Amino acid sequence: MDCLFCRIVSGEIPATLVRETDTTLAFRDITPKAASHILVITKEHYADVATLAQADAKLAGEVLETAAIVAEHEGLVADGFRVIFNTGEYAGQEVSHVHAHVLGGEPLGPMLAK
Ligand code: 5GP
Ligand code: ZN
Repeated sequence: MDCLFCRIVSGEIPATLVRETDTTLAFRDITPKAASHILVITKEHYADVATLAQADAKLAGEVLETAAIVAEHEGLVADGFRVIFNTGEYAGQEVSHVHAHVLGGEPLGPMLAK
């Protein structure tokens, strides 16, 4: 198995977990791009959010639910936060296992660095 996030799910690679459900896992990004930067993944492997949403819409909803709960626990809701699913080459997706970036804790700037 050569998928980095599958290895985190199996415990082979350590991560700082912030929440775990039957189907999802949330952990801190190793290179945070904001004061608070958490990744939410499915335990089952899906390449990206489009694949997941079409294969299992309920599970896609569970990823969003975990993202919302994590944002609440991190204290991001009052000031606002961003949820990003990079998908494919143009979006710069580096890990081919669906993940939501939950970003906040400080002003995040414009949506795109253009
Ligand atoms: P992408 O560019 O695919 O949307 O995001 C991948 C994210 O995974 C990046 O923000 C990167 O910092 C993070 N990442 C890469 N390797 C690891 C790792 O081993 N552990 C954790 N916690 N995050 C990682
Ligand atoms: Zn995987």
